Amino acid sequence: MAGIVVVFDFDKTIIDCDSDNWVVDELGFTELFNQLLPTMPWNSLMDRMMREMHAAGVTVGEIMEVLRTVPIHPRVISAIKSAHDAGCELRIVSDANRFFIETILNNLGLRSYFSEINTNPSYVDDDGRLRILPYHDFTKSTHGCHLCPPNMCKGMIIERILSTEARKNKFIYLGDGSGDYCPSLRLRAGDRVMPRKNFPLWDLICSDAKLITARIHDWTDGGDLERVLLHLINEIVNGDEDASAGAPFIAVDCKFQTIPMASHEALPQALRIPN
Ligand SMILES: [Mg+2]
Ligand SMILES: [Zn+2]
Repeated sequence: MAGIVVVFDFDKTIIDCDSDNWVVDELGFTELFNQLLPTMPWNSLMDRMMREMHAAGVTVGEIMEVLRTVPIHPRVISAIKSAHDAGCELRIVSDANRFFIETILNNLGLRSYFSEINTNPSYVDDDGRLRILPYHDFTKSTHGCHLCPPNMCKGMIIERILSTEARKNKFIYLGDGSGDYCPSLRLRAGDRVMPRKNFPLWDLICSDAKLITARIHDWTDGGDLERVLLHLINEIVNGDEDASAGAPFIAVDCKFQTIPMASHEALPQALRIPN
């Protein structure tokens, strides 16, 4: 193993859209979704939307069909395979739901590359209706994190993974959304966070980059994700990261804050895999 855990957000990180919005929009429920959104948490609304779709005669098979067509950048698929082949352990932490994520990963032939998917539980009930539940049951207790939505604190999930995996592994965390900020704050020096540029996570990190202990490497699209991720894996595996590891990473302007990748553009074709 490479001693690296790569943690991916799912929506707008692995796939190039939000899977919840994709299903709602493709099946023609956008207007109802927008009407109800101000009245309840997102996770509860998705369960409600599944109820509305079921009542309108939409089958689980039809939901699976539209999940077949979610956009994904081809370089993200190759990045996942390369990272796995390099010996990294891949995990997902997502505020979507297990049914959507596993359906999409199975369609893409990617399910077996991930050792763990942390997300909102979901199942098809006896009436054939898809149910979507909260990862954290906020009707019983609050998780106590003010940064995160009531149904999931990704930071607490990262803490749990860190508590068991931290000693022997470095972490690379990829995400785009505001829900990815809390886990980013918990990464350690030597870990890497990869925020998608000009998305909410990147904005939050840029608002006060001193709060982030991990090193920050932004990316724009799937091609960029692959290039940056494989570079970081290579850097960690080869142990040639320590030159820049000592100094704390502080800058005023986010534009100058991320480590420039230009000098690393010639990414080695194959990753060296230690035995
Ligand atoms: Mg996302
Ligand atoms: Zn949190």
